[in-house]
Amino acid sequence: MTNHSYIDSYYHDTIVANGPALPLEAGVEVDVCVIGAGLAGLTAVRELLQHGKSVCLLEAHRVGWGASGRNGGFVSDGYAEGTLALEKKLGFDHAKALFDLSCDGTRYVRRAIDELDAPEVPVQEGWLRVLRHDGAEEGLKRSVERLVEAYGASYSFWDKERVRETLRSERYFQGMDDSGAFHIHPLNYALALADDIKSKGGIIAETCAAQQLNKDGAGWRVATSQGRDVKAGKILLCGSAYMEKLYPKLERSILPVATYVVTSELMPEKIETAIRYRGCIGDTRRAGDYYRLVDDGQRLLWGGRITTRKSEPVQLADMLKKDIQSIYPQLEDFKIERAWAGLMGYCVHKMPIMREMEPGIWAATATGGHGLNATATLGMVAAEAMAGVGDRYKLFEPFEAAWGGGAVGRLGTQLAYWGMQAMDWWDEVRS
Ligand SMILES: Cc1cc2nc3c(=O)[nH]c(=O)nc-3n(C[C@H](O)[C@H](O)[C@H](O)COP(=O)(O)OP(=O)(O)OC[C@H]3O[C@@H](n4cnc5c(N)ncnc54)[C@H](O)[C@@H]3O)c2cc1C
Repeated sequence: MTNHSYIDSYYHDTIVANGPALPLEAGVEVDVCVIGAGLAGLTAVRELLQHGKSVCLLEAHRVGWGASGRNGGFVSDGYAEGTLALEKKLGFDHAKALFDLSCDGTRYVRRAIDELDAPEVPVQEGWLRVLRHDGAEEGLKRSVERLVEAYGASYSFWDKERVRETLRSERYFQGMDDSGAFHIHPLNYALALADDIKSKGGIIAETCAAQQLNKDGAGWRVATSQGRDVKAGKILLCGSAYMEKLYPKLERSILPVATYVVTSELMPEKIETAIRYRGCIGDTRRAGDYYRLVDDGQRLLWGGRITTRKSEPVQLADMLKKDIQSIYPQLEDFKIERAWAGLMGYCVHKMPIMREMEPGIWAATATGGHGLNATATLGMVAAEAMAGVGDRYKLFEPFEAAWGGGAVGRLGTQLAYWGMQAMDWWDEVRS
C-alpha cells in the first residue's frame, strides 16, 4: 500500500495545522486539470482561478509532499542555469527578459506571503554566497558588476575580512551578497497557497494520482487512482521528478537528481561562535553547500551533495555532519535531529520546461535546484498562456523537452558531479 504521509523532516515537525486529505468527488468537470501540488502546480491553480478558470488540482500524495516541501527554502532570482551562461547561448536581450521574468517569480512569492497573511511562513532576507578557494576574487567582482549593471541584480561584493567576520570559517574567502533573496518555510507556504485556492473555489484532491490522460471530444479525461475521472478542457503537468508512467514524452526528458538536508539540535551558543548571518548561506562551488539558521538562530538547517541515486544513503546524517564540521570545527560534536532527501527535476539544458506538449496538454516543470522563484514564474506564465491572455511562455521555447538519456543520462550526471567535486577540490587545494 502506498504511504501518502509527509516524510519526517524539520518542515513536517513545524507544519501548520492542515486537515485530512480530501477525496476526489464524482463528476468533476473543469476548464483545467493540474497534476502535481508542488509550488508550480499550486501557483498555476491560484493564477488560473484569478483568470476566471475552473480548476481541479490532483496530488498523488499530499500538498507540498515533493521537492516543494523538502527544500532549503531559498528564494532568489535566476534559474538553475546561470544568467551569464544563458546570455552566451541566447544573447543579452533574451537572457535579460528571462532574468526579469525570474525576478517576477521572486516578487510573486514575497507578495503572496503578505497577501496570504501567513505568520507560519517567516521571511528572512539576504543570500551570502562565498568562495571556498582563493584567487577567484577578480572573477567574482567582474560577475557581480556585470549582473548589477546589465541585469539590475541586487548583488554586492564582500571581501574576505567581511566574510570571515560574518562566517567564522578558514575555508571561506570572498563572497557576494544578494539583498533581494530571502528564505521561507516552503511546506507552510505550499499549504497557505492550498488554503487560498480552496477558499476561492478551486478543487484539490490529495492521495489521488493521475494515471491516464485520454482524449475526450475537444478536451481530455484524466483517470485517477481513486477510480474517478476528471473531465477537463486542458491539462497542466507539474509532476517534476516524481512523475512516472503518465506522460513518457515529458518524463524521459527529466532527470531526477537527489539532494539532502539535515537539521541540528538547538545549539544557540555553538552557532554564535560560527555563523553571524541570518539569511541564506551557500558557497559558489559547482555543487555546493546551502544552509541557514532556523528557530530564531538556534538551529542549523544544512543542505548539500547531489546524486542520481533515488534511495537515501543510510549514513546521510553522518555524511552531512562531517561536511558541517569540516567548515566549522568549532561546533565540535552535536546531534542531527532530522535528515531527509528530495528529488529535483533537471533537464539537460538546466532550464524549466514551459510549453504546450500537444494541443491541450501543457507542461510547467523541471525547475531543478532553483525552483522557489521559478515555480512561481512558471505558475504565472502557464496560467496566462492557458487562459489565452499572455505569451511570455514563448521565452522558454529554446528549452525543449529533450531526452535526458535515461540510465545513461543518470550515469553521465553522476560522473559530471564527481568531476565537479574533483574540480572544486583541486581549486581548494591550490588556494
Ligand atoms: C532537498 C532540496 C533542496 C532544495 N533547495 C532549494 C532552495 O533552497 N531554493 C530553490 O529555489 N530550490 C530548491 N530546491 C528545488 C525546488 O524545491 C524545486 O525546484 C521545486 O520545489 C519544484 O517544485 P514542483 O512543484 O515543480 O515539483 P514538486 O514540488 O516535486 O511537486 C511535484 C508533485 O507532483 C506530484 N505528482 C507527481 N506525479 C503525479 C501524478 N501522476 N498525479 C498526481 N500528482 C503527481 C508529486 O507527488 C509531487 O507532490 C531544492 C530541492 C530539494 C529536493
